[in-house]
Amino acid sequence: MTYTQHDTIVALSTPVGEGALGVIRLSGLLAIDIVDAFFTGKKKIKDQQSHTLHFGKIVVQDEIIDEVVVSVFKNPHSYTGEDVIEMSCHGSPFILKSIIDICQQHGARLAKPGEFTMRAFLNGKLDLSQAEAVADIIASENKAQHEMAFKQMRGGYSDIIASLRNELIEFAALIELELDFSEEDVEFANREKFMQLILKMKQTVSTLIQSFEMGNVLKHGIPVAIIGEPNAGKSTLLNKLLHEEKAIVSDIAGTTRDFIEDTIQIEGVQFRFIDTAGIRETDDNLEAIGIARSFQKMNSAKIILFIVDIQKDYKQIVNDFKQLAILPTQHVLILLNKSDRIVDCNAYDIEEAISTLTGKKVMEISAYTGRNLERLTHELVNIVHAEKLQHNGLFVTNARHLSALQETLLHIQQIEVGLQDNISGEFLSIDIKMALHSLGIITGVIELDKDILGTIFGKFCIGK
Ligand code: GDP
Repeated sequence: MTYTQHDTIVALSTPVGEGALGVIRLSGLLAIDIVDAFFTGKKKIKDQQSHTLHFGKIVVQDEIIDEVVVSVFKNPHSYTGEDVIEMSCHGSPFILKSIIDICQQHGARLAKPGEFTMRAFLNGKLDLSQAEAVADIIASENKAQHEMAFKQMRGGYSDIIASLRNELIEFAALIELELDFSEEDVEFANREKFMQLILKMKQTVSTLIQSFEMGNVLKHGIPVAIIGEPNAGKSTLLNKLLHEEKAIVSDIAGTTRDFIEDTIQIEGVQFRFIDTAGIRETDDNLEAIGIARSFQKMNSAKIILFIVDIQKDYKQIVNDFKQLAILPTQHVLILLNKSDRIVDCNAYDIEEAISTLTGKKVMEISAYTGRNLERLTHELVNIVHAEKLQHNGLFVTNARHLSALQETLLHIQQIEVGLQDNISGEFLSIDIKMALHSLGIITGVIELDKDILGTIFGKFCIGK
């Protein structure tokens, strides 16, 4: 895909099809002249101030096509950094097509996918990772996706990367200087300070790499496994949770029955109950399921709900729990189910005892009556919020960024080893350049191949 920045581009920025309004956007040198050729308002658009709105008619050969509102954004104060005009028209596909045709007849060409945002990037309005976040915002389907994309578009980890890169550039410059004076054997770059920077970079880059897993989990739904012996109440609990939250879930357009069965949004966080269908299927064959079988499903879960019958001996519950192979990154809640069955309610003591012996959070519930389910869902959400705090809400969700960060980490580690071994500035400088390059790939400060840009922006919708 080739892009020419000199062209003036036009596209429908709202979805194709009938709607109350349709917005047509133009960007480029001729944007204002093109609109002035067929728009009749109080004054010519070229004589209007930037950031103003104007009502008028679109007239072609004495025929009124539509009454529209034109928004004017003069360069450089616009989304793309160029002159931008947005026309809010009536949302008839006929009107919209006619107006786009007229724009083309007056010298605009149809925009390619993502071309407006690409211009914003090329004109320094957004860095590359922010531009990519725009596509994520448009594609966001839940609160977590929206939050992460918005944070990134507003700067997110771009600032962190830019500042690390700047600090590294300073050392790179000092080491280059040393190379210029190599005969005199001087050391401009303080190796101790350089090592401190490298360790700081290693820490920051590693944290960002780690955030990828959680970022994706947040994006696609936190995997939760409900495990426990047959008859502990797994299906009852899942059905109850689905029932309670169904209203929210079925609001999402296009949700299918299957989707409803396994995904629940609680307080804006999406949870994905993994393979619970598999657990349910095995109900038919009680002999075959043991705890062991459901345990296999545990590994891919971020949160494990270990559900047991509260009527069981608490020591047995603790023993059963200790059989579980829980990964250090997994969160566990022990649910003492069927608490409606115990009359003499000493549930609190049992909770305490089991919690002390297992070191895990314990909660008595009744999946059947719904007792304490709100406490449970609240706890699920809290776990997610605590994870988010650990990363300051900054998550790498873009695979391109992840691979650049992993590459950066390798180069940083090489610099670290080089510093430990006291290698010459000449060799250090090679690794520094590589680290600078891989960091620059994320924000796009380095010269990127047009093909790479084409691939990145080609994923956008037209009109963005
Ligand atoms: P699973 O095999 O772990 O999926 O267990 P089920 O959800 O199928 O439940 C097994 C039985 O326990 C069913 O008869 C449920 O009605 C009953 N049950 C589940 N939860 C509760 C509860 O909180 N209280 C009571 N009284 N019965 C429950």
